[in-house]
Amino acid sequence: MDSWTGHEVPRLPGTGAPLALFDSARQAVAPTRPGRPATMYVCGITPYDATHLGHAATMITFDLVQRMWRDADHQVEYVQNVTDIDDPLLERAARDGEDWVVLAMRETALFREDMEALRIIPPTHYVGAVESIPAIADQVRVLLDRGAGYRLADGSGDIYFDLAAADRFGYESNLSREQMLVFAAERGGDPQRPGKRDPLDPLLWRGARDGEPAWEGGPLGPGRPGWHIECAVIALRLLGDRIDVQGGGNDLVFPHHECSAAHAEVLTGQAPFAAHYVHAGMIGLDGEKMSKSRGNLVFVSRLRGDRVAPMAVRLALMSGHYRADRQWTDDVLKAGQQRWQRWRAAACAAAGPSGADLLAAVRGRLADDLDTPGALAVVDEWADEALAGVGADAQAPVLMADICDALLGVRVRD
Ligand code: ZN
Repeated sequence: MDSWTGHEVPRLPGTGAPLALFDSARQAVAPTRPGRPATMYVCGITPYDATHLGHAATMITFDLVQRMWRDADHQVEYVQNVTDIDDPLLERAARDGEDWVVLAMRETALFREDMEALRIIPPTHYVGAVESIPAIADQVRVLLDRGAGYRLADGSGDIYFDLAAADRFGYESNLSREQMLVFAAERGGDPQRPGKRDPLDPLLWRGARDGEPAWEGGPLGPGRPGWHIECAVIALRLLGDRIDVQGGGNDLVFPHHECSAAHAEVLTGQAPFAAHYVHAGMIGLDGEKMSKSRGNLVFVSRLRGDRVAPMAVRLALMSGHYRADRQWTDDVLKAGQQRWQRWRAAACAAAGPSGADLLAAVRGRLADDLDTPGALAVVDEWADEALAGVGADAQAPVLMADICDALLGVRVRD
């Protein structure tokens, strides 16, 4: 599947700082120690609706990871998927009387536009679930052959993963079994379904149903893949048995990432699947959780349509720490717009305080678990001084613009 178009990223002097990130499995900030290349898999959208600010905040988070790794001279292999076949997509298409393929193509195209506007560096591989179905079916068959999967006896053709095969299950989310059962029910699982060996066993393959699309599964029978095995197989195929970062929103901690890791680890015999499991916070609106059921989603495309500068949106989203669940308000956006204007003006100053010091400080803040509030404060201070005529470094304004572009993804010069 085609990704979006990237921008040229300026090279900064010297070598960037090693990046430390919070790992949900270890519940601690730990240095990333990327291999060659550095590998990252981020769970992408299910394209039944437009990109909202929660998606944007997540994508910006992992864009910053990629920028920090590149700055530290790592080659980065980054894979993102599109879940272009799944229940929510089919439900939305049915509700609106629309062809699900057309819906998925339209929303994926809009997502690409939004990512480009926000200056997200495109993934190395942008991969759809549908185009991956033969590979996924193949790995489901491997799990079945190894006794790690089983077919439900109700004639549905549905195949489940047997959690008994995954002896480390639970290490990624650190949840109690009671919490797992609650989250599984809330987030697309089916713990109540009769006939499963363990209520938490996740679906690997959904047998064909009347009125639903299905693909040839060979010995599996016709059907379509489950969501967790989709991500596990795409990541393993393109990035190898162990990856440096598995990323997504914090609503993916369980069951999605726990189950993907369990599938991958049983398939490869290696654990952990990811050295870091990294999760971005949710974005609420004016004190409420942003959700499709509340109908209060703020779409990136809507803001763009209202002529809000994407760079101001990006700065507004980075003004809070990526891990924090945080609120989107008019004031947050206004602060982002004002900051962008001030930085643009400062980038045109004749001189400013030391550019080398600014670079070291921004690198230092971002290296510490992507402390964007700290990094933004450092640039703010530099900008205020440059605009007040403080400092005699005539190269600093150009370097400041390159720092904003390369490390923060914010363009301050036209
Ligand atoms: Zn995923």
